[in-house]
Amino acid sequence: MTEKIKEEFPVLQQDVYGKPLIYLDNAATTQKPISVLNAVDNYYRCLNSNVHRGVHRLSILATEAYEHARMSIQQFINAPNAHEIVFTRGTTESINLVANGFANTILKQNDEVIVSTMEHHSNIVPWQLAVEKCGAKLKVISINEIGEIDMECYQNLFSEKTKIVAVTHVSNVLGTINPIKKMIEIAHAHQVPILIDGAQGIKSTKVDVQDLDCDFYCFSGHKIYAPMGIGVLYGKEKYLEQLPPYQGGGEMIQNVSFEKTTFNSLPFKFEAGTPNVGGAIGLEAAIDFMLKIGRENLLTHDKALLDYAQTKMQEIDEIRFIGQAREKAAVVSFLLGTAHPADVGTLLDTMGIAVRTGHHCAEPLMNRYQISGTVRASFAIYNTKTEIDKLVEALKKTNRILS
Ligand code: PMP
Repeated sequence: MTEKIKEEFPVLQQDVYGKPLIYLDNAATTQKPISVLNAVDNYYRCLNSNVHRGVHRLSILATEAYEHARMSIQQFINAPNAHEIVFTRGTTESINLVANGFANTILKQNDEVIVSTMEHHSNIVPWQLAVEKCGAKLKVISINEIGEIDMECYQNLFSEKTKIVAVTHVSNVLGTINPIKKMIEIAHAHQVPILIDGAQGIKSTKVDVQDLDCDFYCFSGHKIYAPMGIGVLYGKEKYLEQLPPYQGGGEMIQNVSFEKTTFNSLPFKFEAGTPNVGGAIGLEAAIDFMLKIGRENLLTHDKALLDYAQTKMQEIDEIRFIGQAREKAAVVSFLLGTAHPADVGTLLDTMGIAVRTGHHCAEPLMNRYQISGTVRASFAIYNTKTEIDKLVEALKKTNRILS
């Protein structure tokens, strides 16, 4: 099945340095199937027009397509209402929108925001900016050696000053799938809202925001086979209503005068300016692509590749895994002896294998393990066990060269 699926990805049909490309950098971004490329192409060829403000035919069609995409996303994550789906540029912008809103309305001096040690910089820096602005503080949940959240520490961090928890669903470095349902329950037991960074979670789990009962869920299209530059903020209506606009401009207003501006209803209050209509349509096509394969099949494939990779890589004594949580997504971070991750990545690249190296935008996590970076292989639906065999062979060769 996978070979057939791979044929749907034009970018994967190329050689690099005379070797067939093996793309294992899917936690950074996934490749795009032809159906997504066609949907975006068709939008610009046949529909391109500005949305929500035209009376002419193209504008009406573009608006319908854009709002249809919103409803597909609503269904995909089982959000109660389409107006709780805000289009953004991606996870980073979604988190900034919420952090900024909290800084401007809710956070006060000495208040506290809880994040975890394994956060991506995108779920640290916006909160740091927010707390600095208000004289509030960040509280950090520790993790254990295998890369799991310390739940006791988490529970103990709450106080009457806690105003929000912001935690990742799945670590982009460790692959850990956090027990977010439990974490959400605990936050709510303290009457504290919780934001989930779903940049990795949206691909690695079946997200149902009503079942989770999270207050915010953020993700980027490009990590689930959609174009870059489009993402989603899901927020419960009661919180989205409470938060002020993130940016001012066209689309987000009801009436403007020099004395007073009133704002548009949800979700448009948060969508200032001309939106990425082609991106939203591409995201809808990517969702269709995933649903056609089936969520369960996608997850089973990821799990099979993860198990296979972890087992095969153990053939190499010099490999040290970073992150061995019991619940893991298809992300394998490791070190090869004392070799610098960048050297490993560069040698793998010459063999046609694309992996990620470095701190993966998670420097506090690197500090936790007292390392400067890792090599990371991450898998998607078009990857195969044969590719993992080639990765392992290439790692053996790299190990011989570098030691
Ligand atoms: N959070 C996590 C866990 C991520 O993996 C990423 C992307 N690497 C982000 C946030 C940021 O996503 P984006 O750059 O698409 O906004």
